[in-house]
Amino acid sequence: MTQIADSVLLPGHDVPLGRWTTVRRLLPQKERRMVGAWCFVDHFGPDDVSSRPGMQIPPHPHTGLQTVTWLAEGVIEHRDSLGSHQLISPGQLNLMTSGNGIAHSEFTPPDHPPGMHGLQLWLALPDAARHGPATFEHHPILPALADGTVTITVVAGSLADLRSPATVHTPLVGAELRTAAPSRYSLDLEPTFEHGLLVMSGSATVAGSPLEPGSLLYLARGRTSVTVETAGPARLFLLGGEPFDEPLVMWWNFVGRSHEEIVAARSDWMAELGGSRFGTVAGCSAPPLPAPELPSVRLRARDRQGKTF
Ligand code: MN
Repeated sequence: MTQIADSVLLPGHDVPLGRWTTVRRLLPQKERRMVGAWCFVDHFGPDDVSSRPGMQIPPHPHTGLQTVTWLAEGVIEHRDSLGSHQLISPGQLNLMTSGNGIAHSEFTPPDHPPGMHGLQLWLALPDAARHGPATFEHHPILPALADGTVTITVVAGSLADLRSPATVHTPLVGAELRTAAPSRYSLDLEPTFEHGLLVMSGSATVAGSPLEPGSLLYLARGRTSVTVETAGPARLFLLGGEPFDEPLVMWWNFVGRSHEEIVAARSDWMAELGGSRFGTVAGCSAPPLPAPELPSVRLRARDRQGKTF
């Protein structure tokens, strides 16, 4: 059953990220913090970086989450404190699981293509998985299906009969939809999931609502399908999952459950800037990023709709 009333258009906002990059932040939002386990959605580009350095993100820590890097254009060089060193190109997935702590850096290499365009996404780890080991996966080949003018690539979780090889810890989906020409497509959805759709390039009409880059269309649970129409070439991304019930404290690059956990993660990072908890990012010459000052008030946990605890 599809009803317009079950969908909400959530405009994102621009956030400068370092000196060279501005991103559109689509999650978290005030009253819609998450879609399934997806708790952070940044869309960057398309940018012309032919005479600029592109992405320049020095070593920084993460806890309690998985990072998902997905490119439409460009190249990023990933290094982390497990010793991983991986170039990622469009159509490939980098998935880093922080467990209790990891550090990584992401740089556009000096010799790079002129375009830069992609998504940086976080998945919150459920309590049962968040103290596990840190891991890194690179998936150069992902399941895809071509149906007429639409190509769907399942990046994480599953959609229809396709399942991504990426390790995830809650039932979810992350998938790219690409159209090469005007299309009208009915996409089957898992009705126990909530979903969000964003446009990376081009424009679309989704469930009857016009959708442009810069906004996230939220779709409540209970849908078995959604209609996506495009007037020409377009690239969209579908997020979804079972609603994530655990309230989270998200601050800087940390996802935890309490103020005390965040304070401890910050001080573990600042004490050694990449010491024993997070490790050092070998091969990265840039100095690690110091954490910002904590706010003067206690950090509070929020549920997926922004209610504080
Ligand atoms: Mn990161």
